[in-house]
Amino acid sequence: ETQKLKKQSAIVTGADSGIGKGVALALANAGAKVLVNYFHNHTAADEVVSQIVAEGGEAIAYQADVSKEHDVQRMFAHHLNVFGSLDILVNNAGLQKDAKFVDMTLDEWNTVIGTNLTGQFLCSREAAKIFIQQGIRDGISRAAGKIICMSSVHEIIPWAGHVNYAASKGGISLFMKSIAQELAPQKIRVAGIGPGAIQTPINKEAWETPEALEKLLTLIPYNRIGKPDDIGKLAAWLVSDDADYITGTTIFADGGMTLYPGFADNG
Ligand code: NAD
Repeated sequence: ETQKLKKQSAIVTGADSGIGKGVALALANAGAKVLVNYFHNHTAADEVVSQIVAEGGEAIAYQADVSKEHDVQRMFAHHLNVFGSLDILVNNAGLQKDAKFVDMTLDEWNTVIGTNLTGQFLCSREAAKIFIQQGIRDGISRAAGKIICMSSVHEIIPWAGHVNYAASKGGISLFMKSIAQELAPQKIRVAGIGPGAIQTPINKEAWETPEALEKLLTLIPYNRIGKPDDIGKLAAWLVSDDADYITGTTIFADGGMTLYPGFADNG
């Protein structure tokens, strides 16, 4: 199989775990050099780098808090120092701080918005500046740069008990579309990925017991939980030239979770 991302490099945020790890491995598998960003878990990030190297790829681990402007700028500068250019940003880092609405603290609100939404703003702004300065790199990609915004089915499905998270993902939708509109003339593509339930540490309580998994599956018409690789493969395709005409839209990979499964046997 030809490596569709050969000679390209990528920053994947929150790539030491779950979906980000799946995306980092898939991009590396398609030939991209990858900066594996992590927040706290250096060991886990090193393991992702080792796995990429063992499979013949190139990667480095790098610590940064995506919600901090200085950290983000330091990360992009480091990427350019090491790899010399940048072609792909995957805004993946995210977290939940769940609480009943009336009990939600301002800190819980700010932490989730700061990471999930402001983090995507800070990283996308740095990436866009680099892409604009770089322009199209002939023979490498048809676009000057590609940005993926990890969203969620909660970009459109309301979620009681998680209003900070749902607000962050709803915000990502119009953030993504607005920068896609603004950056298209500069040949920068921006797209969202809306995962359904993917088996990662973020939602462990939803799949770790058979009872919890059975309840979760009632929300998934396709009747299986997703795996990080389901999202990795989609991301690798979406940033490749095969998806060159796609910008400003979110692609849901959710086994049908957004199909209102409650209506399936409600006739
Ligand atoms: P995860 O907890 O396994 O991974 C989240 C990653 O983000 C971790 O590596 C964490 O360290 C990192 N992170 C958190 N705060 C950070 C910060 N300030 N700076 C840098 N990194 C930070 O969870 P996951 O399921 O892999 O989630 C990845 C993304 O996918 C998130 O944006 C999440 O909202 C989204 N998502 C997940 C699911 C799912 O079912 N797992 C569904 C829809 C969307």
